[in-house]
Amino acid sequence: SPLFPALTEALADPDGTAAHRPALRFGDRSLTYGELAATAAPLAARVGEAGRVAVWATPTLETAVAVVAALLAGVPAVPLNPKSGGGELGHIVADSAPSLVLAAPDDRLPDAPASLARVDVDIDVRATGPASPALAPDTGDLADDLPALVVYTSGTTGPPKGAVIPRRAVATTLDALADAWQWTGDDVLVHGLPLFHVHGLILGILGPLRRGGSVRHLGRFETAGVTRELSGGATMLFGVPTMYHRIAESLPDDPALAKALARARLLVSGSAALPVHDHERIAQATGLRVIERYGMTETLMNTSVRADGEPRAGTVGVPLPGVELRLTEEDGTTALEAYDGETVGEIQVRGPNLFTEYLNRPDATAAAFTEDGWFRTGDMAVRDPDGYVRIVGRKATDLIKSGGYKIGAGEIENALIEHPGVREAAVTGEPDADLGERIVAWIVPVDARTPPSAAELADHVADRLAPHKRPRVVHYLDTLPRNDMGKIMKRALAHD
Ligand code: ATP
Ligand code: MG
Repeated sequence: SPLFPALTEALADPDGTAAHRPALRFGDRSLTYGELAATAAPLAARVGEAGRVAVWATPTLETAVAVVAALLAGVPAVPLNPKSGGGELGHIVADSAPSLVLAAPDDRLPDAPASLARVDVDIDVRATGPASPALAPDTGDLADDLPALVVYTSGTTGPPKGAVIPRRAVATTLDALADAWQWTGDDVLVHGLPLFHVHGLILGILGPLRRGGSVRHLGRFETAGVTRELSGGATMLFGVPTMYHRIAESLPDDPALAKALARARLLVSGSAALPVHDHERIAQATGLRVIERYGMTETLMNTSVRADGEPRAGTVGVPLPGVELRLTEEDGTTALEAYDGETVGEIQVRGPNLFTEYLNRPDATAAAFTEDGWFRTGDMAVRDPDGYVRIVGRKATDLIKSGGYKIGAGEIENALIEHPGVREAAVTGEPDADLGERIVAWIVPVDARTPPSAAELADHVADRLAPHKRPRVVHYLDTLPRNDMGKIMKRALAHD
């Protein structure tokens, strides 16, 4: 069945009510479903038989129209991060080998994408003429195992890998979230994320369109935009932890923001761990608990909390309908049965939400799956007695083996952030002759002139957690190195 029933309806009946419903708004430019059909369907016809199309993924209406057009044509879209350096763009363009690039008419493209054939995305509805279902094959039936997108991972732990995402995964993940969040066509999403990752593109754009609802994109995230849109009838906010951190910091001086957030139906956070301190501050000021969800480029969404459920700080909820999730021992194949809130295992996932392969990387693809088809996420977690998953962190960078203990960086970071002199914190491990690894804290102090001392921070952590979890070394920084999703790049810290 089509990925976007509301769009199919608008194509079939350009004068019907579905066609007049709002679909997308970026700044002062917007499209109804009818207008989206009228711009995307002719573009789908032009994209036609291309093998793959790159999309110059600025946070604009053109990007959304380009991706929808590719999906309507059944041609896989490869969103390009316009802020990537030349080297990374060159790698992604060479790796994904698109036959053309879709861009807004006034975009200037750097070398690698500029060498591709270019098709401009025209969102002037009068210019594109009437839409016809014949222009867009997805109004009929396209095979579920057809690749919909090739999305490059965030590059937090190494060079980005191109995950081939089938249409089935897009449809099932969005339907599972709709079920969990009671997400309907009446929901209006406030969006402030980039459009070249799963979070901003699949959840933030394709999600509302699959439901027949609408999106208001802020262009660039700012709390004033959140206040404006939620006061003006938007119902949900999707964000990353750095956004909720800014919200938590602004709330004490911004009663209008608190009032607007309190009207939201859902506040959702994902892409990285939401610090418990920020979760609690937002809950206190608004009466709403942020729902966390856990997912990744390769698996789309794995867990969350139901809209009528109980979000709990520091957890990402339970597996979504259709998703099988298990924790395994270090061997990567023995399942852990523990629901004790403390036995740490690697998260493995199976289900229709999974990617099919890393493009051009058969070895990495093979290594990522167990013999019986479980995807090894590389993330470590524990499960509470009621099944709630608590992410401990990434096996590669967030699990510190010190003095015979396995210690998660996240709980130490949460404890450090609660210190009044700490604005941001990251924790890593480094080799230590006695302990195996020692705990290292990287701190952005609230006031650089009077940062809390290493001894004070060690005591602060030891009081809250356990003595062996105190940092042995503290470094002070002005900012933490983060990528465009606000994720802390721990490999940049370790190499400093
Ligand atoms: P790369 O794979 O290139 O190193 P990446 O893993 O950051 O980059 P993504 O696929 O965008 O790329 O991110 C998925 C990862 O983000 C997950 O594997 C997990 O480590 C982290 N993550 C996502 N949601 C959450 C969450 N709610 N809590 C904690 N971590 C999360
Ligand atoms: Mg990853």
